[in-house]
Amino acid sequence: RQAAFRTDLSVLLDQVGGGKESLSFMKRRIRRLAQQWATAANHLGAKLGQRWRDQKKILIHVGFLTEESGDVFSPKVLKGGPLGEMVQWADILTALHVLGHNLKISMSVKELQGFLGVPPGRGSCPLTGPLPFDLIYTDYHGLQQMKQHMGLSLKKHKCHIRVIDTFGTEPAYNHEEYATLHGYRTNWGYWNLNARQYMTMFPHTPDNSFMGFVSEELNETEKRSIQQNKVNNMAVVYGKEASMWKQGKDSFLEILHKYMEVHGTVYYETQRPPEVPAFVKNHGLLPQHELQQLLRKAKLFIGFGFPYEGPAPLEAIANGCIFLQPKFQPPHSSLNHEFFRGKPTSREVFSQHPYAEEYIGRPYVMTVDYNNSLEFDSAIKEIMRTKVEPYLPYEYTCEGMLERVHAYLQNQDFCVPEPPFIPANFSRRGSASGSRVIRPLFVPLPNSTALGWASYVTAPTAWPPLSSLRLLVSQEGQSCVEACQSAGFICEPAHFHFINNKEALLEVQCEVVDSEINHILPAFSVMRRECSLQREPLLFSCAGHSPKYRRLCPCRDFLRGQVALCRDCL
Ligand code: UDP
Repeated sequence: RQAAFRTDLSVLLDQVGGGKESLSFMKRRIRRLAQQWATAANHLGAKLGQRWRDQKKILIHVGFLTEESGDVFSPKVLKGGPLGEMVQWADILTALHVLGHNLKISMSVKELQGFLGVPPGRGSCPLTGPLPFDLIYTDYHGLQQMKQHMGLSLKKHKCHIRVIDTFGTEPAYNHEEYATLHGYRTNWGYWNLNARQYMTMFPHTPDNSFMGFVSEELNETEKRSIQQNKVNNMAVVYGKEASMWKQGKDSFLEILHKYMEVHGTVYYETQRPPEVPAFVKNHGLLPQHELQQLLRKAKLFIGFGFPYEGPAPLEAIANGCIFLQPKFQPPHSSLNHEFFRGKPTSREVFSQHPYAEEYIGRPYVMTVDYNNSLEFDSAIKEIMRTKVEPYLPYEYTCEGMLERVHAYLQNQDFCVPEPPFIPANFSRRGSASGSRVIRPLFVPLPNSTALGWASYVTAPTAWPPLSSLRLLVSQEGQSCVEACQSAGFICEPAHFHFINNKEALLEVQCEVVDSEINHILPAFSVMRRECSLQREPLLFSCAGHSPKYRRLCPCRDFLRGQVALCRDCL
């Protein structure tokens, strides 16, 4: 069946149910953004024209909100607990509904069993017969529950699963045997999925798919009125829980207070939290729409280093604030910071909000060393002088999210085998006609250089399409994430399949070509003139580097403001 856009959200709101504070929060959000979604649906509908869109049967099982997982989130919704996940789930539900798909929503193991048609009760009772859904969106908790209650059949159906995973999962952690043998084992990874089945909150781990969420959008009138009503010396502190304010924040808060009126939205029960200095005007935890109002007046939204990578800085920038945040030197990661410890990623985080730093940047975002009081002081002064307009990257608008999710739904299929690799021009080598071998233009070492490899391979069904592929060689010790980025591209794990061959390594002049199981492959060692191909497709990884190896990197182009999609992706 063809999917038709929906602009009425009442059926969705009924499906979400109620009772818990987390669900009420999500429903308030869905209602508040309804108009924005409807407008976006109309725009995208016009943009896509008469294109056929398959209607998918989708099960959404929100594992972290089930009682069976302990649901630590719901009781903290009104107490300063994390809300980012609920923001994202509310938006995923809405996007799938608006795109016109057929949804079933489960927030308990019982509902999960009901929808899957497995008998209720404990123990593993495999699902017999076909899976009644095209896709299942869940999270790590939900995955665990499905394993418990679907047993062996989960393996059979796992290509249909999408895991919403805020901080991302790198391939080395996802491959059970490899993770176990090489020290990448955590509490979360090792599901042996295709890493693109994990969907993140920000486009920070190109090995995963970027799902995202949305932020409030302003029309021209609102933008103008915001700019007229900005209070130039008003700052709002990012941190709704008192613990985010403790330890060593006093010195730079004092500096900030020299120039600006400082506001906070810190949760408290009866008394003012002692961590919050007396000069701070604390509003208590605000409902989302009231926070937006506060941000509309403020000039500065200031982060203290935690929480990492949340939605609030995007909302602040969308409401015309400048976001000031600390630089992390050395970077935070699962190796050195409690929060990231045990998360299935080695990603290094160089500031509180790397997306804001890298994708938005000045003048909207300033990332400075908070230990350097001079640098901090001059940043505040610069912010007070700088005028900015409200800004929201397209990928965080409703239309941007609908477009991206639409593209995934219609094109990502992890159940079919990879399309065959045909080295188009190479295959002519030695042919009867004696046609000349055309080699890719390989600009010599040591510079990483983008090659027009795509014209040498054909695979008409590949997505992203091969026209987006740029083959590139990293520096020694550089990951493909960095190598692609430094050339103005993004690493595209789907393209590894097409560059993991001798032909792609042709000009590197390796004396030996072997194949191994290692997440930095394909790569070659300059010293030993040895090339290695990847033997385990699940370990194709943009992340990962080794000082002795230059990696072969499959990069692709991307749309400005929509990094998940390439020029020919739609
Ligand atoms: N938020 C809110 N009231 C407040 C402060 C924050 O409703 O007083 C909302 C904010 O609009 C954002 C969400 O909390 O959408 C999550 O924000 P944050 O960036 O703090 O991420 P978290 O750590 O909660 O995931």
